[in-house]
Amino acid sequence: MVKIILKSGKEQSLLRFHPWVFSGAIKKIEGSPAEGDLVEVFSVSNDFLAIGHYQVGSIAVRIVSFSQVDINDLFWKTKLQKAFQMRKSIGLAENPQTNVYRLVHGEGDGLPGLIIDIYNDTAVMQMHSIGMYRIREQLAKALKDIYGDQLVAVYDKSAATIPFKANVGAKNEYIWGESQPAEVLEYGNKFRVDWIEGQKTGFFIDQRENRKLVEFYAKDRSVLNVFGYTGGFSVYALRGGAKLVHSVDSSEKAIELTNQNVASNFTDTPHEAFAVDAFEYLNKIENQYDLIILDPPAFAKHQSALKNALQAYKRINARAISKIKPGGILFTFSCSQVVGKEQFRQAVFSAAAIAKREVRILHQLTQPSDHPVNIYHPEGEYLKGLVLYVE
Ligand code: SAH
Repeated sequence: MVKIILKSGKEQSLLRFHPWVFSGAIKKIEGSPAEGDLVEVFSVSNDFLAIGHYQVGSIAVRIVSFSQVDINDLFWKTKLQKAFQMRKSIGLAENPQTNVYRLVHGEGDGLPGLIIDIYNDTAVMQMHSIGMYRIREQLAKALKDIYGDQLVAVYDKSAATIPFKANVGAKNEYIWGESQPAEVLEYGNKFRVDWIEGQKTGFFIDQRENRKLVEFYAKDRSVLNVFGYTGGFSVYALRGGAKLVHSVDSSEKAIELTNQNVASNFTDTPHEAFAVDAFEYLNKIENQYDLIILDPPAFAKHQSALKNALQAYKRINARAISKIKPGGILFTFSCSQVVGKEQFRQAVFSAAAIAKREVRILHQLTQPSDHPVNIYHPEGEYLKGLVLYVE
């Protein structure tokens, strides 16, 4: 195996189990690794540190093991089995009310570069590293062994997430079996998920618990769900007894699915969906809503976009806080990894000050238990939410 030797002192983060080696930390590479190869990482004094996938870029090695073990079929299968056991023990796998969950959350499950979402009988894999991409067949086979007949297909949706420079020709395809876009259950609510045409792996599984909280607060309120995608929050608000629910998303397809999702859960319900730009919609609202949800896409995907992103968060939140009815509740989120918890809170604080309303924080929200954060990799905490009571 190719040997990577770190500069003096650069072993510290690996000794604290952080799973990334930055290219700037490397002193010498003994051998010439191809992208995605497994490499062994050593300190300058030749002590073994870890094994990981090599890739050209600022993160040069993504660690898969801190022990010098054989990385074979059994190694990967054991990792997936551990992820499955964990989901089972937190009441997610094998739950008749919720058959959609994240099985593997990258670094959070000791598998940097790998996402696996389960939609009832279909697993959708999304690889973010060449190393994981190259072993996708092995991973699919392990999934099949773990789930048995419960699983009918494994779909690979990595075309947009694998660095294109690597030229591995990633395309979206079934790598085992075949299935149709399906209706899944989340806390008993029905949602149609299309992993082929939909965004991400098809559904924003990470908002499950936060949707439940919306259900709790929705009774007799007029609800506006902005950046609603396929209506996740809207369905929960309706189940919670909302007086009316308006869903807004710029994607026509998402709005179509929102209407379908509402229809498959309720008959004759006070809901309307609009395929319009959220910024324009927010500019037009008056004080007709007393529960507003703002769940925008990641405004900053890279550090360079941070300043503009914070401005955008401030702008939409100021708008919502100014217009919400007295006694109204605002659920506001950021899923940008580069926006820190404090920075997001600061942006919302500035928004409140612009609106000059009395605002209290009721809840501080984050991602759910099937999107765990590896304690040695705090960067894995990406979803931030605040629930505000606006006087
Ligand atoms: N709340 C959703 C997930 C939101 S993802 C859920 O619970 O499932 C972000 C959504 O914002 C996407 O559906 C995307 O289509 C939409 N979006 C992006 N830019 C937008 C804009 N300018 N106006 C309205 N919607 C937008």
